[in-house]
Amino acid sequence: MTIAEWLKEAANELADDMFPSARLDAEVILAHTIRHPRTYLHAHPNEEIDDRAEDIANARLELRKDHVPVAYIIGHKEFYGRRFTVSPAVLIPRPESEQLIEMLKHVMPGTRALEGITSKRLVDIGTGSGCLGITAKLEWPELDVALTDTSRHALAIAQKNARTLDAEVETFIADLLSGYPYSPDIVLANLPYVDPSWFQSPELAHEPADALYADEGGLGVIKRCIEQVAARGKSGTLLLLEADPRQLDSIGDIARPYGFKERLRDEFAICFELA
Ligand code: GLN
Repeated sequence: MTIAEWLKEAANELADDMFPSARLDAEVILAHTIRHPRTYLHAHPNEEIDDRAEDIANARLELRKDHVPVAYIIGHKEFYGRRFTVSPAVLIPRPESEQLIEMLKHVMPGTRALEGITSKRLVDIGTGSGCLGITAKLEWPELDVALTDTSRHALAIAQKNARTLDAEVETFIADLLSGYPYSPDIVLANLPYVDPSWFQSPELAHEPADALYADEGGLGVIKRCIEQVAARGKSGTLLLLEADPRQLDSIGDIARPYGFKERLRDEFAICFELA
């Protein structure tokens, strides 16, 4: 079978409302299988795929038909321009989480301005793949960055990503801040915030439930995080949280009595400063 034939057939097999990016998914799976960039497929539509590669691509297509996310099938996902390894032990990095990095840009002074100033401690709580904390370390090398997660398997993936991307970070198995030994200056957290009653795509069923769902309308874990940061932080500590746009007002209400002042807000992110 040629590249063009396989792609056409695969895209047809995925073509229903549940796979809005059928053609793209097919291309990513085939390109990954024959170890070429996606542009190669367009440049060589009439090239024959060897039988072994075709079998592997077909097996991967079957996974996709079961709604396994493409990132788990190929084992990686891009976040803020860098490639992160993922496995079903970690949430797949989402484009909306890049808003936390953009927000950090607004609240962090430029690298030069920080030179010579005592280092700042940033902790990424519930790091998963490590995408937030590792990106922060690579964008602002002067930060002392730590990653925490309750899952040993997740932390192993985060450590692998830190090694591959050459980011010097510490890692801790910790329930939020409970196993983290310092007082943080900046807290980044993309915690579970999905209310189990919300609509869920079939893809979500393949991601770790611990990383997605929380009680109290999805705010249970964020609430505990706010309490812990209030107890362990100091005046000026920044807390940057990701949440659903519908939750940001309630999060403001929860945080205010603990002394947090809202500094910035984006669609999926909110930043507080401890008074
Ligand atoms: N935004 C993610 C989703 O809708 C949820 C991520 C999270 O719970 N931290 O799938």
